[in-house]
Amino acid sequence: MPAAAAATVAATPFAHESEAEFARILDFYGISWLYEPRSFPLRWEGEQLAEAFTPDFFLPDLNLYIELTTIRQKLATEKNRKVRLLRQLYPEVNIRLLNKKDYLRLLAKYGYGPPEAAKLPDIDRVLITTGQIERRVGELGAQIARDYSGQAPLLVGVLKGVLCFMADLLRHISLPVSVDFMAISSFEGEAGEVVKILKDLDQPVADQHVLLVEDIVDTGMTLNRVLEHLWSLRPASLKVCALLDKRARRLVDVPLDYIGFEIPDEFVVGYGLDYHQRYRNLPFIAVLKHELLS
Ligand code: 5GP
Repeated sequence: MPAAAAATVAATPFAHESEAEFARILDFYGISWLYEPRSFPLRWEGEQLAEAFTPDFFLPDLNLYIELTTIRQKLATEKNRKVRLLRQLYPEVNIRLLNKKDYLRLLAKYGYGPPEAAKLPDIDRVLITTGQIERRVGELGAQIARDYSGQAPLLVGVLKGVLCFMADLLRHISLPVSVDFMAISSFEGEAGEVVKILKDLDQPVADQHVLLVEDIVDTGMTLNRVLEHLWSLRPASLKVCALLDKRARRLVDVPLDYIGFEIPDEFVVGYGLDYHQRYRNLPFIAVLKHELLS
């Protein structure tokens, strides 16, 4: 779940509306923030403090101070001078001076910018931020590398939802891994859900240590069918790594060895997951508006 914001927009006395807007956007993307948490002394005249600088924001998760300069150039020059001085005096402090262009670029790093400007009309809210995904995928990769130490596991993905997760996870497993993909289709048959294999694996699985990498486990029907198929190919071992676990909806009890995030019963998109083939390219995981599904 997104980290709770360290402060709330409504309760914070911002000096400018642009700062309130920035805080709202940080909230939307689940990035914690503190408003003007600290002043840095810059110049002393004898015992007297002659000049200090108070950056607008501190983002604890990124260990980053932010000073917004979306306003007049004259002020920007003065702020530039202060930030330069601050960096000289406090080299351990990370600070970014954001002008309008930088500000939009930073937002792009965490998503698409403000939701209305980003033309994401179907999105209700961000559930898991880009930063949270990056951190968790790194942890999973490290754990898998430890557990499979001395082995060369075969990672198997089911297309297409797993594409982002597989690409990122793979790069966090410091072992000689190989990768293969299956494609399936699922539809409602007379006897319930039917899962059909459209594309099988390209390489032999027998005697291999197979790790099935899944984007999301919902009822568990798909995973159950894929596991049945993989067991029939006689691997040396078979484990499952799922990025998202929608446990509340489970109908088939399938074992999950590695789980990225447990999520509530919501339809999610982004980071490979689609709604009518769209939104796979969102760098975060978001909840689709309920009215689209009813
Ligand atoms: P299951 O067989 O576990 O019910 O469903 C698994 C498949 O359903 C996933 O691989 C995924 O394709 C799709 N699915 C289930 N929940 C979601 C969701 O919240 N968002 C998206 N985009 N697909 C989902």
